[in-house]
Amino acid sequence: MGCRWSSLPGGTSCIVHVMEFGWDENGKPKNTIGGSDAELLAGWPGLQWDNTRDYVMVGFGTAARLLPTNIMQMRGQELKDLLVARTSSWHPHLRELFSVIDPGSCFPLNMRTTERLPQWPTTNVTLIGDAIHTMTPGRGVGANTALRDARLLCRMLVAARDGEVKLLDGIRSYETKMIDYAFDAVEKSLSGMTVDQPMFKPVIGPLAMAGMRTSMRVINRVPALKRKVARSYADVRDQDDD
Ligand SMILES: Cc1cc2nc3c(=O)[nH]c(=O)nc-3n(C[C@H](O)[C@H](O)[C@H](O)COP(=O)(O)OP(=O)(O)OC[C@H]3O[C@@H](n4cnc5c(N)ncnc54)[C@H](O)[C@@H]3O)c2cc1C
Repeated sequence: MGCRWSSLPGGTSCIVHVMEFGWDENGKPKNTIGGSDAELLAGWPGLQWDNTRDYVMVGFGTAARLLPTNIMQMRGQELKDLLVARTSSWHPHLRELFSVIDPGSCFPLNMRTTERLPQWPTTNVTLIGDAIHTMTPGRGVGANTALRDARLLCRMLVAARDGEVKLLDGIRSYETKMIDYAFDAVEKSLSGMTVDQPMFKPVIGPLAMAGMRTSMRVINRVPALKRKVARSYADVRDQDDD
């Protein structure tokens, strides 16, 4: 998967995800993957739904006050027209990509974030994922954090089943660790998404933007730097709790 998130003047931003899967456009596994995938696909037809095939996902984001008040009621072609109109000065390659978007795949989405919560009394009901720590996509770690929750909670439940820990103590231990790493991710994700960043300010904005573009271009051309940036993302995404 390739991902590109650009913050643009005027407080707008765009994310492009290039999703590549191990099977071809007809739903057949590509040659490069193992035979067990064929078995999996044959036994789980749901896996052949459109979003399991190669696709490009485009997200256009900005502050609600900069959008039509009825944005959440808009659908399909209306949303596509809005995107095309709001990006008339963008690079022609990006605009070409926007022009081939299937209007039926467009939908509006409210981006929300949460605030760090003080620990609550533990019961046998707990929460994982966005249900407890919705975050902006600033660092692209919401789903990664949900999976980390699931793995950690699963370990605690298995330990409780095996008599190594009392059930509520296990859940408490999960919640304690989760509150720490998840709200850290929430806060880091938000810091990259607010319209208060220097590049959106009137006078220093163009300078900050030029500086960011230059550093991005340098990172893109220096493999060691590129690896370092990729590692910094992996640091947040690949954490283990053992
Ligand atoms: C534009 C964008 C880009 C993102 N990019 C990334 C990224 O690159 N990397 C990353 O890690 N994360 C990313 N995320 C975040 C990621 O999508 C979420 O953090 C993740 O989907 C949360 O998973 P979840 O299972 O907790 O919740 P969800 O994916 O929201 O799943 C909850 C499910 O419960 C269902 N549901 C709700 N109410 C009910 C009900 N009453 N009964 C039955 N079902 C119900 C919903 O329909 C939904 O299917 C991105 C988010 C956005 C918006």
